[in-house]
Amino acid sequence: MTTGNIGVTSQNIFPIIKKFLYSDHEIFLRELVSNAVDATQKLRTLASVGEAKGELGDTRVRVIINKNKKTLTVQDHGIGMTAEEVDKYINQIAFSGAEEFVNKYKDNAAAIIGHFGLGFYSAFMVADKVEIFSLSYKEDAAAVHWSCDGSPEYTMEETIKAERGTDIVLHINEEYAQYLEDATVEGLLTKYCKFLPVEIAFGMKKEWKDGKQVETGEENIINDINPAWTRKPADLTEEDYTKFYHQLYPHQMDEPLFHIHLNVDYPFNLTGILYFPRIKNNIDIQRNKIQLYCNQVFVTDEVENIVPQYLTLLHGVIDSPDIPLNVSRSYLQSDNNVKKISSHITKKVADKLAEIFRSDREDFEKKWDDIKLFIQYGMLSDEKFYDRAVGFALLKNLDSKYFTFEEYKEHVKEAQTDKNGDLIILYAQDANASYAYIQRAKEKGYDVLLMDGELDVHAMSQFEQKSFEGTDDSKLAVRFVRVDSDVIENLIKKEDQSPDSLIALSPAEEDALRYSFESQLPKTDKTRYEVSLEAVSADALPVFLTQNEFMRRMKEMSAHQQGMSFYGNMPDQYNLVINTANDKVKTLLEEITAACAEGATPLLEQLASKKAEEAILQEAQKGKKDADLTQEEKDAVTNVTKELAAIKQQLKEQYAAYATSSDKLHQLIDIALLAAGQLKGEALAKFVNRSVELL
Ligand code: ADP
Repeated sequence: MTTGNIGVTSQNIFPIIKKFLYSDHEIFLRELVSNAVDATQKLRTLASVGEAKGELGDTRVRVIINKNKKTLTVQDHGIGMTAEEVDKYINQIAFSGAEEFVNKYKDNAAAIIGHFGLGFYSAFMVADKVEIFSLSYKEDAAAVHWSCDGSPEYTMEETIKAERGTDIVLHINEEYAQYLEDATVEGLLTKYCKFLPVEIAFGMKKEWKDGKQVETGEENIINDINPAWTRKPADLTEEDYTKFYHQLYPHQMDEPLFHIHLNVDYPFNLTGILYFPRIKNNIDIQRNKIQLYCNQVFVTDEVENIVPQYLTLLHGVIDSPDIPLNVSRSYLQSDNNVKKISSHITKKVADKLAEIFRSDREDFEKKWDDIKLFIQYGMLSDEKFYDRAVGFALLKNLDSKYFTFEEYKEHVKEAQTDKNGDLIILYAQDANASYAYIQRAKEKGYDVLLMDGELDVHAMSQFEQKSFEGTDDSKLAVRFVRVDSDVIENLIKKEDQSPDSLIALSPAEEDALRYSFESQLPKTDKTRYEVSLEAVSADALPVFLTQNEFMRRMKEMSAHQQGMSFYGNMPDQYNLVINTANDKVKTLLEEITAACAEGATPLLEQLASKKAEEAILQEAQKGKKDADLTQEEKDAVTNVTKELAAIKQQLKEQYAAYATSSDKLHQLIDIALLAAGQLKGEALAKFVNRSVELL
């Protein structure tokens, strides 16, 4: 028996390992099983070139728990180690420069393991004592027993071992008793070893018998040694891909929409399968994530720095030995291989989508509603992806017909180009709520898109911006407007204005209408209404609500974006448009004028004379600078302004007094609110009662 000191300069490295790796201590199992798998594969390679003689025999790796002895053993029948090799790989090499890199990577626990040949030593995170029993495949090799209790001292002696290979025996520390529980260990094996290329056995398969679980004679194999991504696409059927999807995500019920098989060997190595899941509404829901493997060993499902953010919505696996696994996240982002991998995946995804679009458009259209969110997210967050996707991203109209952006522009160009040459694209977010507006647009021969997705508002802004960027003589400026944001005649302005729009009211008549309506509009904090007068057309509704497209969109976009809460906090603003060309409005105006004549006429006369006074003053002071005016002159202006305001106030009160009692006026306002879905509660009840009485 020999004893010695492990090649470490620091007196005791184990407390350091334990401390830094605390949060990740479960990976000891991954490291030990990976070593066992490596040893097995090395043996197979040697056998295949004739260097290892004799039968390979049973090559399963076994993980064995002994509750009485409180040990966990990882057993393989791989190449094994001679005493010299244990000395070289375990005693010396493993810790060469250990102290240096522990200092260097002390903020990044995972970096210490794995890449620096410390995998084996991670066993000390959970074990008080670790033993190695190993018999090398080499002819006439003697078996070796190595033991170490966590201090830098170890013992090594010859031993008797019948079978080739290595047993790593961990005497589990009391604190980590969970690693002696079947369920815990099986869980970890399933997490990290599910697709390792050598069979991993853990206990016996169980079955239900007479209401009890009993062991069968068959070993419980944890892993699938030939996962789909390691096979050739030509050897796989659609079914195989779907089966593999469920193997990856046993709790996922939905079938994936389609898959992309990745296979790159230059300039980096990468294989994998990505799936498009059915994403419905919430971007944040990502129960199942892309899993990252390194030579079939599970590493992580935090792939944010390896694939672009929008691709993290996909499901599947990526396996690459070229991704530096145990380095910090900021380092990952700047790593050249990682950048290449990321852009390669983006390209592959776009290519696949383009291919389905080209080869089976019908199928693509069927899947569109499900993949739309993902594609829009990609287009919005990655210019390169936008450039590729703009050729297959679809718009859907209210008749459920699909168009690419280019196709759609062509489709509506003829009818929906306004008098300035801008192409106006009409859309609805809720076909029911905007029914009347949609009908009017259709009567005019216009088309209406359905834009009810979470990211549609962002997507249309992007389309507008992109069309604008490219504006030259051959391209159109494109504007999206919600079909109910104004009357259709205003949304798409044509040269031939209706003769109705030429009807003009006198300023006094305008005031009469404006003040009457203003005084009766609902007043809330969340919604603001403003009155505007417009001779739309005789057959358009008498009164209706419109909403500024820009403001509404900003508000909607602010829901998704940080730093835009300014818009989010603003009240909703609506215009109550009074269609002065409508007969009902004309009659109402006559009634208002007649009823208010007594009180309003003298006020209107006063107003006229004050205005004349104001005009004279303004004329006299025209061209003079503020400094050149006398105090008297300034006061005169201030006084006239005040008096004008006072008369207007009285006038407003006159009209308000009448408006309060006018059923017709209230009925008109309520109809406008009702058409926009804004008449609720008490106001709605009043409307119903009034309507009954008016019958
Ligand atoms: P790494 O696996 O990263 O090289 P380890 O500390 O895990 O670092 O292992 C060091 C070396 O010990 C391995 O490279 C291998 O040569 C040897 N080794 C570890 N486990 C086994 C095993 N089960 N069978 C044979 N050799 C092993």
